[in-house]
Amino acid sequence: MDFKKCNRCGCFYISDSNVCSNCQPKDNLEIAKLNNYIEKYGNNNCSLDEISVSTGISVKNLNRYINENGINISL
Ligand SMILES: [Zn+2]
Repeated sequence: MDFKKCNRCGCFYISDSNVCSNCQPKDNLEIAKLNNYIEKYGNNNCSLDEISVSTGISVKNLNRYINENGINISL
C-alpha cells in the first residue's frame, strides 16, 4: 500500500480511503449533509456555490465528493 496525502488536512497516511482516519468522520458528515441537501432541493438548478453556502461545505470538498461518490448534480 502507498502513502497517500489526505485531501482535507494534507497529512500522509496509509489507507485505501481518500482521506486520513482523522478526517474520515468529517467527510462522512459532510457527504450526509450533501445528500440531505440534494434530497430536499433536488439536484437541479443549484450551483456548487449555493450548495456550499447552504451546507457549509467548501466547493473544493463538494467537487471531491461528487467525483468520488458519483453524486449526480446537474449544473
Ligand atoms: Zn486528514
